[in-house]
Amino acid sequence: MTPRASPAKPLPVIDPVAESTAGNKLYGAGKVGVVPCTLPSVVLRSDSEMLKYARTAVACMQKAWTPLILKSDAYYGSAQVAAFSVGKGPDSPLCDDPPKESDAFYQPKGSVICLDRRSLGTDPDAALVDLQETVAHEFGHHVQMSVGILTAYDMRAYSTSSERLEDERRLELQASCLGAAFLGANRRTFGLNGRHLEMWRDMVRHMGDEYNPTHVRDHGSRNNHGYWSLRGFAAGNSSACNTFTAPAKRVS
Ligand SMILES: [Zn+2]
Repeated sequence: MTPRASPAKPLPVIDPVAESTAGNKLYGAGKVGVVPCTLPSVVLRSDSEMLKYARTAVACMQKAWTPLILKSDAYYGSAQVAAFSVGKGPDSPLCDDPPKESDAFYQPKGSVICLDRRSLGTDPDAALVDLQETVAHEFGHHVQMSVGILTAYDMRAYSTSSERLEDERRLELQASCLGAAFLGANRRTFGLNGRHLEMWRDMVRHMGDEYNPTHVRDHGSRNNHGYWSLRGFAAGNSSACNTFTAPAKRVS
C-alpha cells in the first residue's frame, strides 16, 4: 500500500535578505569583550603614526569581535589597514577607487580599512578621538561583512532610490552603533573618559548627512547618528544595533 499523499502545505516564505539583516544571529551573540591590548602612546604627527595606531586598534577589535562572529555561525577573516591619498598617485593599491569626500572607507575586497592620509587635524586630542571613531565605524562594516549583512544588502533589488537609500542608512548607522559598542566596552583602554569622552559624544552627535556637501541622504541625520552611537556605547552589545528592525524615522 502506498501512503496517501497529504494535501500540499504551502512552503514558508523566507526572505534571505531579511534573515541576514534583521534576523542576523549577531544580535544574540552577547556583549562585546573587554580585551587586553596596548595602544601606542602617540601624538599622531604623521601618517606612519596614524597607521601604527590604527593597526593596533584593529588588532584589539579583532580580538573583541571574533568570538561574537563565531557565535553568529559566521566565518571570520582578518581586516587590514591601508592608507590612500586622492590625487597623490597609486600608493595604495589596496584602496583603489576611494569615494569622493571621504576620510575613510571599507573595501570588502581584501577586507581593507582605508584611511585618508590627509585627514589628521591640528588638535592631537581631536585627531586621536576622530581616528578611534573612524576605525571603530569601519571595523563595524567588517563585522557586517563577516556575518553576511553587507552581502545581503548587495543582493537586494530596489525599486526606488529612496528605498535603497533607507537601507544604506540602516547599514551606516549600524556600523557606527557596532563601532560604539566596541568603544563603550573598551573605553578604559581607549582612554574614552573625561574630556576625550565629551569630545567623542560631541563628535558622534555632529556627524550626518547635514554635513555632506552633495546632500545625498545615505548615512542618516546627525540626530540619528548620535542616537545609535550613544545607544551602542552604553550597551556594549550588538543587540542594541539592529537598525534593520527600527522604524523609518530612526534611520532617517
Ligand atoms: Zn560607513
